[in-house]
Amino acid sequence: MKNNVFMRIGILFLVFSVFTFAAKVQYSIWDKGLGFEQYLQEHNISQEILENLDKDDLKLIDEIGYNHRYFELIASNGVLLQTLLPIGDELQAHLFRTHTGYKIEILPISYQKDTHVAVLEVDKSPHSDIVTKVKNKRLSTEFTRVLKHSVDFRGIQKKDKIAIVYDQKMRLGQPLGVPDIKVAMIESHGKKNYVFKHTDAKYYNEQGEVLIQKYMRKPIKHVRITSHFTNRRFHPVLKRWKAHHGTDFGAKRGTPILAAADGKVIFSGWKGGYGKVTKIQHNDGYVTLYAHQSRLKAKKGSSVKAGQIIGYVGSTGRSTGPHLHFGLYKNGRAINPMRMVKFSKEGLTGQGKKAFLNRKKKYTKIINKIFEDNIPSYVWNTVNEVSVLPSMKTYYQNRGW
Ligand SMILES: [Zn+2]
Repeated sequence: MKNNVFMRIGILFLVFSVFTFAAKVQYSIWDKGLGFEQYLQEHNISQEILENLDKDDLKLIDEIGYNHRYFELIASNGVLLQTLLPIGDELQAHLFRTHTGYKIEILPISYQKDTHVAVLEVDKSPHSDIVTKVKNKRLSTEFTRVLKHSVDFRGIQKKDKIAIVYDQKMRLGQPLGVPDIKVAMIESHGKKNYVFKHTDAKYYNEQGEVLIQKYMRKPIKHVRITSHFTNRRFHPVLKRWKAHHGTDFGAKRGTPILAAADGKVIFSGWKGGYGKVTKIQHNDGYVTLYAHQSRLKAKKGSSVKAGQIIGYVGSTGRSTGPHLHFGLYKNGRAINPMRMVKFSKEGLTGQGKKAFLNRKKKYTKIINKIFEDNIPSYVWNTVNEVSVLPSMKTYYQNRGW
């Protein structure tokens, strides 16, 4: 497929542009609580530019998290020429000036994805050893998270072995986002303890039993999924980059919406494309979001219990019919709600189990071989995602700059 010019944007643009336009590049950190509309206002840009966006794009604009590093290109006279503002790890909002005014679009973030195989021996503790030897703090946190339900970390001793197969996105030489662990293994007292990530994004032990015990509940009683979570995809008809940061459940107007877990209501009101929406803060940095409600019930500041009615299904905001858009965030980043919500009985059965066992076999073989042959850590595979870096000039010329 021919690469679309839309795809061809990277931070290097901004670096080139310094020379091309005598403008300056600056990067800043997006403050918690700063809304995109407020940002437009500060730069005297009309809110009307948001009207050209469709409902999904508009929701993404609402997703702009905080603590993101964003880039601005400012002309010598102080006018904002371009802003690249990350939405999660996959997409960014691109605001740019043209002859006819400002425009906005959603673009992917360029990154490289490496599959790593990390092998190490415990010296101090798994946590500190992964930090110092693999030099990836988030990997260390993830490793503990996925193994803590099957391994007693207090029993780990010096010289115990660790193996991790994981994907890590890299951007400008820095790790981007949370590493995606495929297999984690710790050998303790001569026994290898494995966890495997399956295609449903959940972690299982060697027997195919599910491991993370603390699940959230279904946000409505009878679930019928009408749209799944996606982080980034190129829409072939619209020729645009899209994402759907949540799971949609089809339901009749007025169906009660239930809190997925105990927590505190941190938002209850109207929010752009989401219409009437409730946000609940839970333990461990999780936030759930319930959008397009016909009526809000739980008030801001109130504590709610798992399963408690917090509102009712509707079609407010940018919605095509009554449904619940259910979003899940961890530390401000959208994650797939299916990862945390328990929809069926634990464990895998039938085809799913068969597929799992095949994957398991493949990975255990690799890891056993690594230890047998004493192979050190290595990078298994590298994928460049959206790596084209054209000249910024062409990009702007195409837009009538
Ligand atoms: Zn949705």
